Amino acid sequence: CGIVGIIGKSAREIVLNGLSKLEYRGYDSAGIYLNDLAGKEFLTKTTGRIQDLKNKMKPDEQGQVGIGHTRWATHGKPTEANAHPQFDETKRFYLVHNGVIENYQDLRKKYLNNASFKSDTDTEVIVQLISKIAREKNVDALTALKEVLTMIKGSYALLLVDNQHPDHIYIAKNKSPLLLGLGADFNVIASDALSVLDQTKTFVDLHDGEVGDITKNGYQIETISGAQVTREPYQLNVAE
Ligand code: GLU
Repeated sequence: CGIVGIIGKSAREIVLNGLSKLEYRGYDSAGIYLNDLAGKEFLTKTTGRIQDLKNKMKPDEQGQVGIGHTRWATHGKPTEANAHPQFDETKRFYLVHNGVIENYQDLRKKYLNNASFKSDTDTEVIVQLISKIAREKNVDALTALKEVLTMIKGSYALLLVDNQHPDHIYIAKNKSPLLLGLGADFNVIASDALSVLDQTKTFVDLHDGEVGDITKNGYQIETISGAQVTREPYQLNVAE
């Protein structure tokens, strides 16, 4: 339902505050993944409100990279296990997703029969597939992500972190909103600009069928088939 991610800045408050600004849309559960880029990572998920998520987190759980999600369940009950971020069985990849993957059961049967699943979501199939392809083909996260995007059918806005290269957030979009916000030494990604207007007013749109590789000082956008995309940022002239 709502997505907020940030790289290059103390992530916890920005992700939680950003998600709070999207609360009016409604949701049944929420979660956050933080990586401090020094070997520590924190995953917290809960049913209920953002405030419940805050209450569950210890003060020292901080990161320079963070992705967060408020979930409106479409596949699987609103439980903690079904909340996002979803992760793969090796606990290397963490993913938040808005939308619906229509062929997730087919993909699970065909490619992931031996994988150990922790949730009932369509989303977990995406992250398990990324992990399997990265492992078996020995390719990087972006390559694995692009391959999975050629396999899945449906709608998605998603953010992916690979804890072997946590100084990147990989993003993708199809028929669900997602945009990139640019800052000085940080970048944010959100499903709605409203959630990050206190951080930046400079945005770059992502279009359907595109993926992005976001670092704190830069971003690269390309199509799923690998054609580079050049797109100028614009200023959003609205009050916070
Ligand atoms: N289909 C996903 C799920 O049920 C995402 C739902 C959403 O967009 O919040 O977990």
